[in-house]
Amino acid sequence: MSNIISTRLLVLGSGPAGLTAAIYAARAGLAPVVVQGIQPGGQLTTTTDVENYPGFRDVIQGPWLMEEMQAQAEHVGTRMVWDHISSVDFTRRPFVLRGDSGEYHADTLVIATGAQAKWLGLPSEERMKGKGASACATCDGFFYRGKKVAVIGGGNTAVEEALYLTNHSQDVTLIHRRDSLRAERILQDRLFAHPNIRIVWDSEVTEFVGGGTPETLVGLDLRNLKTGATSRIDVDGAFVAIGHKPATELFAGKLDLDPDGYIRVTTGTTRTSIDGVFASGDVMDKIYRQAVTAAGTGCMAALDAERFIAEEEYEALQAAE
Ligand code: FAD
Ligand code: NAP
Repeated sequence: MSNIISTRLLVLGSGPAGLTAAIYAARAGLAPVVVQGIQPGGQLTTTTDVENYPGFRDVIQGPWLMEEMQAQAEHVGTRMVWDHISSVDFTRRPFVLRGDSGEYHADTLVIATGAQAKWLGLPSEERMKGKGASACATCDGFFYRGKKVAVIGGGNTAVEEALYLTNHSQDVTLIHRRDSLRAERILQDRLFAHPNIRIVWDSEVTEFVGGGTPETLVGLDLRNLKTGATSRIDVDGAFVAIGHKPATELFAGKLDLDPDGYIRVTTGTTRTSIDGVFASGDVMDKIYRQAVTAAGTGCMAALDAERFIAEEEYEALQAAE
């Protein structure tokens, strides 16, 4: 392959984690290269209003925030490359990564490939995204103050989102496909005790119902999986909370992953099971999954990588003396 880029630090991913890692690494003089992937700017480019990223009193737009982060990263010395990595070789140093447009040789690597929410896959759900259908209550719950909302799912995330939504709504419905929850006991106890949450058991959503001009969500059609009975509930917001899928297919068998596919890191650091490979953002965080936490671990990854490089250089110097 003719196009080879060599770098001391390669960042995989251009969401808040990757771009923050790049800003810190560039300011440390590491001249990082960011491979952007097929979603330059990451998940926030798929949303509009962002109200919880610190530093902005007024509502800002997700795509704008990511353009600003990229501009800042480039301004301090980051090279952005439009490519998608399809294979990695961690058995040799520098690490070798192959993309659709070139090959990358990296002394150290920050993985920031993110995670994607799982959706039910209904065409009406797709149509209602951003118009009432959401996969992030922490992000969008605020927009449903005083309105009726539903959460779909039965794991920790669904129960936490239902509880969180009671901060904004007095009418929260949890819809689960079975008659028992997967969430841990303590969360279930809080859910069952909450006066503003009701649970619809054994049911699946068959349709996200839109109405009005412009069209927004007005209800959900449900089907009871035991009896076959159908019903409609009126809701303004529906939060799908059936799990996330971290973008780690590339690393299966090459890095330690947890049973859900998230990259395992040493507690309190961003170090992975391979020396010189660091992970940040949603790809290693199944709990918080916020832009600001992704940026925070991106910063940590750059600092961890910088220290790793400095230690290696010091050891090489000692050995040469
Ligand atoms: P991501 O943003 O997911 O970025 C991953 C990057 O990796 C992308 O650039 C992608 O192209 C790249 N990539 C993946 N695979 C490869 C590969 N093989 N090769 C090269 N590159 C690759 N959070 C908030 O704090 N506030 C909000 O209001 C908010 N609203 C949201 C609204 C929506 C609709 C969604 C989906 C999420 C929202 N979030 C919000 C969550 C927030 O967007 C994420 O927590 C954050 O983007 C995670 O950042 P990240 O850098 O870890 O990954
Ligand atoms: P999860 O544990 O995999 O639960 C997903 C839920 O969605 C399950 O109840 C599942 O139903 C349901 N579901 C899956 N596909 C569905 C579909 N197509 N239609 C309808 N329902 C569907 O996912 P999660 O809740 O996001 O949690 C992921 C991991 O993060 C877990 O390990 C969890 O413990 C962890 N987590 C921890 C915390 C915390 O510690 N506070 C918070 C959030 C997440 P079934 O039960 O029938 O399979």
